Amino acid sequence: MAIVGETGSGKSTLAKLLTRVWERNVALVDGEVYLEGVEILHMPEHQFRREVRWWKIGMVPQASMNALNPVITIGEQMIEPLLLRGVPKAEALRLAMDSLESVGLPRDTVYRYPHQLSGGMKQRVVIAMALMTRPKVLILDEPTSALDVMTQANIMNLLKELKARMKLSYIFITHDLALASELADSIAVMYAGKIAEIGSADDIYSSPAHPYTQGLMSSMPTLRIDKQLASIPGEVPSLISPPPGCRFHPRCPYYVERNLKGICDAKEPPYAELKPWSGRRHLAACWLYQEFISGR
Ligand code: SF4
Repeated sequence: MAIVGETGSGKSTLAKLLTRVWERNVALVDGEVYLEGVEILHMPEHQFRREVRWWKIGMVPQASMNALNPVITIGEQMIEPLLLRGVPKAEALRLAMDSLESVGLPRDTVYRYPHQLSGGMKQRVVIAMALMTRPKVLILDEPTSALDVMTQANIMNLLKELKARMKLSYIFITHDLALASELADSIAVMYAGKIAEIGSADDIYSSPAHPYTQGLMSSMPTLRIDKQLASIPGEVPSLISPPPGCRFHPRCPYYVERNLKGICDAKEPPYAELKPWSGRRHLAACWLYQEFISGR
């Protein structure tokens, strides 16, 4: 699943929430997260650390190339979670080498320091690190955003290959809809901390329903069609005091065009069930798809 949205829409916050690596001053107000039928958001921290973080949910953080400790060898960094579980060091190092090999790096990378590796190699190390413990779900937070296009393509191919070979589920966080289409079966479009639209990648691409998704689509350059690129005016609102009603209304073209004052700015739109082409559920949180308004 790809989570798509602009900077500041809450994508990385969602990723941190799923792995519970939030800042100390974060208060959990509401909500539940289920993994294999077990609620993990309120699980005691020691149990979450022992059973879930890294073991069931792995994470490749944003700017992960900078996540490596520059004064510790790659091997030492990789084996830490295994040592904490009591795996002997020699065995842990062998597993680290296996994992590095599985992402196309030489086994002796374990003895190197981060500064001895290129950007693409460091990205592969961080992916290998996340895969060491064989998680079922891997959260990839903008895994290619700091890379040049060729390295980006290599990493995307690696991710596709690993997904098929290791039967992994990815939560792929990106601001790039085109990149999401490379990897994702489903897409959730996020705006100001909420999911604006969710559905199969096919449905979101062929018939984007939410005005925000439509805006994102029309701002995407295409290789062969000479089209005028559009942009969405304004910026993502502060989540400290988000706009009332639909959070997108100050930027939405339909809000004025369709005279939706008193509706869109008054009440949060519920999710409307749309007709999917793919057979999977397609939902959009927009008043345009509520019956009383659709003919307006
Ligand atoms: S609910 Fe209204 S303001 Fe929000 S996206 Fe739909 S039409 Fe636009």
